[in-house]
Amino acid sequence: MTTANSTTRSADASSLSHPTYDVAVIGGGPAGCSAAVFTARADLGTVLFEHNRASLLKSAHLENYLGFPLGIQPTQFLELAREHVREVGCDVHREGVTSLRVLDDDCGQVELEGGKTTTDSETDNHTFVLETKERTVAADRIIVASWARTEFLEPLSVTREPEEPGPVMVIPTDEDGRTDCDGVYAAGRITSTNHQAIVNAGNGADVALTLIRDVRPDYYNDWVVPEGYYDSYDREIPEGVEEISVNERRQRKDRAEAVMADFFEQ
Ligand SMILES: Cc1cc2nc3c(=O)[nH]c(=O)nc-3n(C[C@H](O)[C@H](O)[C@H](O)COP(=O)(O)OP(=O)(O)OC[C@H]3O[C@@H](n4cnc5c(N)ncnc54)[C@H](O)[C@@H]3O)c2cc1C
Repeated sequence: MTTANSTTRSADASSLSHPTYDVAVIGGGPAGCSAAVFTARADLGTVLFEHNRASLLKSAHLENYLGFPLGIQPTQFLELAREHVREVGCDVHREGVTSLRVLDDDCGQVELEGGKTTTDSETDNHTFVLETKERTVAADRIIVASWARTEFLEPLSVTREPEEPGPVMVIPTDEDGRTDCDGVYAAGRITSTNHQAIVNAGNGADVALTLIRDVRPDYYNDWVVPEGYYDSYDREIPEGVEEISVNERRQRKDRAEAVMADFFEQ
């Protein structure tokens, strides 16, 4: 795993020049954070936007997330999740996405030189442009994990439908998290998964793996294994897997313990 960063490139042949990512994740709850950790660890340049209205903050104490035997305060859980996202190299912005549009695409508005638009598409390469009040970025793929907000999707033709019986809009996807707009994925509660943090985090990881394999079909698993593990099976190390030495393993263990001790001492 290497640090995932944006590149700055012209968003399409026409004009735009913004920081450009492989993946933009909208929403920093359990689903979005989990998805971002997976895409960044797969070396896809990832940016995450979060406007700090996570539904988990309404919980008094999170007691059913595996690994915290006596539970954890939702604020602490989200701080840890977002620290994880930063640690793997994502850019994280505490800013709500206000608009999302697409260049060179057949699932919404197509922008051409001079600001003209068309619905024709001659290419399968999509570039999405996201705006917040503070910045504009471009991304090749989007993961929407913004329960229960979808208004920024209006310029695209992503299907949204009311979740029975309430007024909240959800996003139908295929079983792997792809929406009906090419390049746009959706994860977490916004796809009508169960209303539990661990389920939504798992779904975020699952959808991220779908996206990663859409980009890199040979991607196997995000695993860290002892050095020589695949030698013993007479196999090449599969894509996504990292082998580490005994020394590296010790260093990672020590660092992980120090960071967690520091976090919970504060
Ligand atoms: C009162 C209450 C108590 C709960 N208690 C528990 C519990 O004890 N245990 C449990 O497992 N689950 C609990 N849940 C459920 C849990 O909070 C959700 O299942 C989980 O948080 C959903 O995860 P998510 O990532 O899909 O969505 P969310 O956690 O809601 O994250 C979505 C994020 O998207 C962001 N966002 C929205 N629009 C934008 C935008 N335009 N730009 C950028 N960011 C945006 C929001 O700020 C939000 O942080 C509780 C929920 C509630 C309401």
